[in-house]
Amino acid sequence: MTIKSKIRTVPNWPKAGIMFRDITTLLKDPAGLKLCIDDFVERYRNKAVDVVVGIDSRGFILGGAVAYLLGKGFVPVRKKGKLPAETEREEYALEYGTDVVEIHKDALKKGQKVLIVDDLIATGGTALAAAKLVKKLGAAVAEFAFIIDLPDLGGRKKLEQAGFPVYAQTEFEGD
Ligand code: AMP
Repeated sequence: MTIKSKIRTVPNWPKAGIMFRDITTLLKDPAGLKLCIDDFVERYRNKAVDVVVGIDSRGFILGGAVAYLLGKGFVPVRKKGKLPAETEREEYALEYGTDVVEIHKDALKKGQKVLIVDDLIATGGTALAAAKLVKKLGAAVAEFAFIIDLPDLGGRKKLEQAGFPVYAQTEFEGD
């Protein structure tokens, strides 16, 4: 069994032309979930990571499990207006318009090494915005970890060109 084989593709969702890579079929499968989380934990067990940041919302599921098993804390990067205390915010471009992600100002300490987790990297806009938030708080991105990379959309390259190491468990062709 492979991680890739447990990911469902839903064509034309949320709109025509998008091949949605649905990880709920991986997460509901006990062996699939274990394979995915254990792979991340194996990779970061002996790396310098102080804290795990998860990106809203599938990054929370993965990041929470990984942080717990690494014995680290978990910090959410959320879509705008969800975090109750003082936040830093970062706007990023979408296909149409912009969106905003936020982090609590006191969520990270200066100099901490942060592992940022999400399910999928497409254009990299969301991930890059999360990295900017981490930097605004004086912390450093140790690595980005994703289940899925869509290499044709160029996000991974964008992150690597900005100096961030990227790990992805599997890839899908096309967008
Ligand atoms: P991006 O900012 O373009 O890298 O988009 C990344 C975010 O959008 C991730 O949090 C994904 O969950 C979601 N996403 C983008 N494209 C897809 C896709 N084809 N299938 C599933 N999720 C996607």
